[in-house]
Amino acid sequence: MNKHEHFAKKDFRSGFIALIGRPNVGKSTLVNQLVGEKVSITSPVAQTTRNRLRAILTTPKAQLVIVDTPGIHKPHHLLGKRLVQSARGSIAEVDLVVVIFDASSPPGKGDAFIIELLKGQKNPVLFALNKSDLVENSYFEAREKEYRSFLPNPSWPMFSCSAINGNGCNQLVEHISGLLPLGPHLYPSNMVSDQPEKILLAELIREQVLFNTREEIPHSVAVVIDRVDENFVKGGKSSQNLRTAILATVLVERKTQKGILIGKGGSMLKVIGSAARIQMQKLINGPVHLELFVKVVPNWRKSPSRLAELGYDGQ
Ligand code: GDP
Ligand code: MG
Repeated sequence: MNKHEHFAKKDFRSGFIALIGRPNVGKSTLVNQLVGEKVSITSPVAQTTRNRLRAILTTPKAQLVIVDTPGIHKPHHLLGKRLVQSARGSIAEVDLVVVIFDASSPPGKGDAFIIELLKGQKNPVLFALNKSDLVENSYFEAREKEYRSFLPNPSWPMFSCSAINGNGCNQLVEHISGLLPLGPHLYPSNMVSDQPEKILLAELIREQVLFNTREEIPHSVAVVIDRVDENFVKGGKSSQNLRTAILATVLVERKTQKGILIGKGGSMLKVIGSAARIQMQKLINGPVHLELFVKVVPNWRKSPSRLAELGYDGQ
C-alpha cells in the first residue's frame, strides 16, 4: 500500500442515510439521480415505494448507503401505519437524515408531520429543497425562505436540487459525505443497490408459476426482471395510459418445461402473467404492463457464470 492509498483509507467516510419526505416529493427520483442508475421505482402516483430499498453511492471520499423509505403521510389505515413505522425505524437506524421538500409547492401538513417525527432525533439532519427546476429563479429565494422559517431550527442546512436534471446534487453529496462517520466501505464499490424491489417483483412471478403449474415445473425455475420502465405509455398519449412496464424472463432448464409454461396458444403464460400483474399493481400501487418471456438455459442453476454471461447476474 502506498502513502496515498493509506491517506485515502484513513479519511474515508461511510454510513447510512435515510431519505424521508412526504409522498411524491421526489425521493426515489433523487436516489436514481444520485447513484446514476435506476434502482428505485418512481411514479407520478404516490406510494410507489412500499418496501425499503438501499441504494449505494461510492465516491473516492465516501460511501453513501441510502435508504429510500416509503413516503411519510399521516396514517389513515393499517398500511399507512406500517409505512410510517418503517420510516420511523429507518430514521432511528441511520447516521444521517435527509429530508426532502418539494419546492414547487409551499410547506404543508405532510411536511409538518415529518418535522414532528424528527423531534428528539440525535443524528444530523439536513434538508433538500427538490424540484428546483419547477420554480422560477426570481421566486426561488422566497420559497426557500418559506421553508426555512417553517423549520424548528432555521439554521439547519438546506440545499436546493433537482432530481430530474441533477442540479445541486453534487453539492448535496459533498455535504452528506462530510457528515458521515469515518469508516470503511460497507458494500463493494461497484454495487449500486441491493434491489429488493426487483427481487420482490420477480418473486411475484415465480409465485404464480409455482401456483399455476404445480408439480409440473420443479422449483428450479428462476425469474429475472430485465427492465422496469415506469413511464411507459400504452396506446394514446394521455396520463391515463401511463403504466409501469415490466419485462421479465422466466428461466427453465428444459424445453418441455418451456412448453408447459407457455401452454396451448400461450394460455398458461397469460394466466401466470395476469395474476402476477395484479399482484404487482398492488405492490407498486399503479397500473402495470407486464411482458413475460420464457427461456431455456440448461443447467442454469449449476452455472452462475453461464447466468452472468447471459446478463443475468442479479439473482
Ligand atoms: P417519491 O414518492 O418521493 O419517491 O417521489 P418520486 O421520486 O416517485 O417522484 C414523484 C414525481 O415527481 C415523479 O413524477 C417524478 O418524475 C417527479 N419529480 C421528482 N423529482 C423531480 C424534480 O427534481 N423535478 C421535477 N420537475 N420533477 C420531479
Ligand atoms: Mg418513492
